[in-house]
This record gives sequence, C-alpha cells and structure tokens, in this order.
Amino acid sequence: SNTRREFALYVARELHEAGYQALWAGGCVRDALLKRAPTDYDVATDARPEEVRKVFGRHRTVPVGASFGVMLVTAPRSEDNVEVATFRKEGPYLDGRRPDSVQYCTPEEDARRRDFTINGMFYDPINDEVLDFVGGQEDLKLGIVRAIGDAHHRITEDKLRMLRAVRIAATLEFTIDPSTAAAIAEMATEIAVVSVERIAHELARMLVCPRRVRALESLRELGLLRMILPEIIPNLNEVDSVEHWGKTLRMLDEFEVMSFELAFAVLLREVPIQQCKEDDDSAARDAARAKVVEQICRRLKLSNQQTERTCWLVEHRHALRDAPQLPLHVLKRLLVQPGAKEMLMLNRIAAVATEADLTAVEFTERFYSETPAEELNPHELINGGDLIAAGLSPGPGFKEILDSIRDRQLDGEMTTREAALTFVDQIVSGKTIEEN
Ligand code: ATP
Ligand code: MG
Repeated sequence: SNTRREFALYVARELHEAGYQALWAGGCVRDALLKRAPTDYDVATDARPEEVRKVFGRHRTVPVGASFGVMLVTAPRSEDNVEVATFRKEGPYLDGRRPDSVQYCTPEEDARRRDFTINGMFYDPINDEVLDFVGGQEDLKLGIVRAIGDAHHRITEDKLRMLRAVRIAATLEFTIDPSTAAAIAEMATEIAVVSVERIAHELARMLVCPRRVRALESLRELGLLRMILPEIIPNLNEVDSVEHWGKTLRMLDEFEVMSFELAFAVLLREVPIQQCKEDDDSAARDAARAKVVEQICRRLKLSNQQTERTCWLVEHRHALRDAPQLPLHVLKRLLVQPGAKEMLMLNRIAAVATEADLTAVEFTERFYSETPAEELNPHELINGGDLIAAGLSPGPGFKEILDSIRDRQLDGEMTTREAALTFVDQIVSGKTIEEN
C-alpha cells in the first residue's frame, strides 16, 4: 500500500539524516521496477542493529534477527513495518539450509549473497537511483530468473532457492535461466533437506498465483514435483497418468484466482486410494480420498484450518451433481459452510473437466447468489431452553429434535416459533417425529 511505501521512505530518510547509508533492497526494488506493488519493503543500511535502535528508539524497534543484523522498525499507529538489515554477507552454509554466521560488509557484497539477479538490486529512494551490482536490471528486461554467481554453488548453499526460482518465475511470468535450471534439475533430490514447512509455504504461494500451471509444469520438468508431492505421481511415464496430469492442469487453469485449499484439492483429485468395492458410489470414493488427502496435509504440516478446508473440498467435489433434486435443507446446509464459495468453484471445475452437464452447478450458483442470507441461514425458531420449558429433559435426543425442526424450517415447511413449539408439544405428548 501507499502508506507502507511512505513509511519505508521515512525509515530511509531518518537513517540518512543520522549519517548512514540507507537503501531499499531485494524484492521491493524488483517489484517497483516492474510497476508491481511490493508485498513488503526491506531496507539495507550500514548502521549496526544497535545504531538502528538509537535512530528509531527502543519502543519502535524489534530485534527480529539481531544476531544476523535485522531490526524490525514499526510505524506508529499502524500495522506497517519495515525490516532494516545491516549490509551483511553470510558465512559458510554447513547444512545447506542456513548460514552458520554473518559478517557485516559492503552493499556490493550484500547484493552478491542474494539469490537471484532480479532480487539483488538496491534502490536509493533519496537520490532516486538504482544500485545494481549483479545485472538485475538486464535480467528484469529479459524476464529471466538467474542465480547470482555460480548456480550450482548457490543452490548447494541453500536448497530452498530451487523452489524460490520456480515460484518467482511463475509469479512474474519469467523463465528460469538455462544454467540455473540445469543446476536445479541436477540437485532436485536434495530439496529433501529443506523443512516441510518451508516447502509447503512455497508450494502454497505457487498454487495461489494465476500462473500456477506454469509453476507445476516447471516443478515437474525439474524433478522437484516427485520430491515434494510423491503421492500424485505414481508413474508419470504411463500414458494414463500423462492424460490425468494434463487434465489436472486444465482444471487448475479454470479460474485465475483460487485459494490454496481449492487449488490443492484439485491437484490431489486423483491421488490413489484403497480399491473401493465395486458398488461404492462416488460419494464414498470422495470420502476415502479425503482421508488420503488428510495424510498428505499432515505430512506437509499444513495448519488445521488448511487441512480441514482442503479435505472438506475433496469430500464435496461432486456434492452438487444432483443439486436441483436435493432437499432444500441439504442444499442450504451445504451453502452456509465456510468453504461454500470454493465448493461451488470446485464443482464447476469438475463438471467442466468431465464435459458434464453444467445445469446443476449453474442452478446452485444462481441459488447461492439469489438467496438472501437470512433465508439460507435463518434465525433458529427455538432452542434447547424451549425444549426444557416444554418438559423435555436434556439429552442426546435434543439435537435430533432441534435438527428436524431446523430441516423443516430450511425446507420452508415450518416458518413460525408457534409451529415449532406445537411440534415439540406433540413429541412431549408421545407422538414420534415420524408421525408428524
Ligand atoms: P516476496 O516478498 O514477494 O516473497 P522477495 O524477493 O521480497 O519476494 P523475501 O523472502 O521477502 O522475498 O526476501 C527478500 C530478499 O531477500 C529477496 O529479494 C532476496 O534478495 C533475499 N533472499 C530471500 N530469501 C533468500 C534466499 N533463500 N537466498 C538468498 N537470498 C534470499
Ligand atoms: Mg519481500
């Protein structure tokens, strides 16, 4: 946002006025040159963390990585903040995941420790000047993601860079430089040393970007896909699998904006499940698949919310197949779920892919957009307290009674509190629900 930019400018000015060098660095420079809105601003400076702290005061600075020279400077009365990092080069990487020490250095050396040329530029906002030690501007023009220095060496240092290259190329619609790509292909199996959390984070960012198909294709070509999601490729050389894969990609291209959970549910649509009984219907297969998908989500240490949403979607990807024939209460209960919008999208995607009739999906989309919220999810007619007042004692039967009243309400058969109470009285006086 603009206020964030203003704040990043302010931070650079304050440092500058205190006699330090202060430059915008990395991704925000790249994005600004591409006229894209940066997701965050980073400032690089020759001021040491203690000195940054003196300039902005104790209450406005949070040491986030003081040991490697990073200080978070927070804006007063807003969420905006800027990471201020002292120019640094990293010591040797011993485990291929993070450097084992840092050393303060010149801007040029700081640029050279960064991953890709387009990510290695600085911008001096005070003098309106780009500082490019690594040929970033040229690669930005060419649309190339290229490792700074020797690709093989840079990837050996930090294996996550393989996924960053794919993600950044897809997001910016760039290509990966051939020698960088060759180094990735050669080292793809080593992605296994990176934590699943960081892998999942990159995968999620790829799946939400509009060019998710491009990202997945390059993951596959580079040999990374079978490493990070072995579950979806039993054998990609088989003609069948190739066809499945092509179809999956077309499905992922159906909407430009997709949530991670929706895209992930599509990606995992054909994940192998235990052989179902002959007579198993599609709902049973979707439920079985949701169980397998849950295991994959757990393995990737996704949050409970992400896991639940993904599984719920997998389970309901054909839920609207017979939507016009569903009782209203079933349809309404489905459409008030928090994932309803994505479920509608998923059902459309599934129907389009199988060249099935879109009538049911379109019927539901219309129903969803035209039905007022208070009709989809009306205020309940009575509650547990009313059941007690009517002489019933609390117990397992309570929910059943309330649910059946709710169903009748959603079906439009019971519209008043009086009708609901009469219904309860009939139960109390010994009639069963079915007789009503
Ligand atoms: P975005 O913020 O859109 O994800 P970004 O390029 O800004 O993209 P960040 O993770 O914010 O990515 O990192 C900021 C900068 O830090 C990068 O532009 C790059 O210069 C450097 N950087 C980040 N991760 C690495 C890495 N694994 N190896 C080397 N440099 C990195
Ligand atoms: Mg960034």
